[in-house]
Amino acid sequence: MNRRQFIISSGVLLGTSMSTLFAEAIAQQRLPKTPKMPVLFIGHGSPMNAIQNNRYHQSWNKLGQQLPSPSAILVVSAHWLSYGTTQVMATPEPETINDFGGFPQALFDKQYPAKGSLETAELTQKLLQGRSQSGFQLTSELEHERGLDHGTWSVLAAMYPDANIPVLQLSIDYEKPAAYHYDIGRQLAALRERGVLIIGSGNIVHNLRAPRMANRKPYDWGLELDSQLGSAMADHNDKPLIDAPTKQAKIMELAHPTLEHYLPLLYTLGAKSKQDKVEFFNTDFASSAISMRSVMYSA
Ligand code: ZN
Repeated sequence: MNRRQFIISSGVLLGTSMSTLFAEAIAQQRLPKTPKMPVLFIGHGSPMNAIQNNRYHQSWNKLGQQLPSPSAILVVSAHWLSYGTTQVMATPEPETINDFGGFPQALFDKQYPAKGSLETAELTQKLLQGRSQSGFQLTSELEHERGLDHGTWSVLAAMYPDANIPVLQLSIDYEKPAAYHYDIGRQLAALRERGVLIIGSGNIVHNLRAPRMANRKPYDWGLELDSQLGSAMADHNDKPLIDAPTKQAKIMELAHPTLEHYLPLLYTLGAKSKQDKVEFFNTDFASSAISMRSVMYSA
């Protein structure tokens, strides 16, 4: 039995609590304790933000310079969905995936050659087993071939242009309800004290089907939802943010014909704590139905 199998089977067979499992993993994997890292949600918008020196690119670049240097970066991106389990990227050298079409060649040529982190992936996968705090049965598995999608690398190319910090991603299990994603975020919170920078990457208003209005003016329903969600985020009032897909179905259908760009926010909310300071940035609309509102929660 190798180390990973031992860790998994000991947790499952003995019914060990999450905190014990985590302590055991730390002891075995020697990830040193660090000051608590911030946790981010970043509105990523167009993949062109990776190579255009625009205000979004500049803000991400500045952020990367200001943050404490992470041991690894864990991204939950709108562009990696799975069905029935949460996949944890354990690829040693993830390729840069061009998961888009209709952009200039320079974007397709862009590479983000960050390495992966098996150690962080194993620890993460271990945290996503057993029962969550709300009682969900969590399932997760390591994935050894997946590359980095543009929800991840377009942002990191600006934040950490040297690509010298290990990166891994989590998939979004698209069969699960909003509360499940929030609970996964809560499980991940422990990683903040091991130097891991957790980033949810999506957009809190995201409708590519809505026609652009003159001068890219935002839709009223977009502004309304952006403002409502922003207030709840500022107040650490998580419940309406978890409930939004069901309780505000009408406006959410306009702002999110599909939910994949909303769900990464729930991971960020789960991983922050009520004591964290809340700072917004890029609180504008990139086009009529894309809010770039981003947030940093920090201890
Ligand atoms: Zn996207």
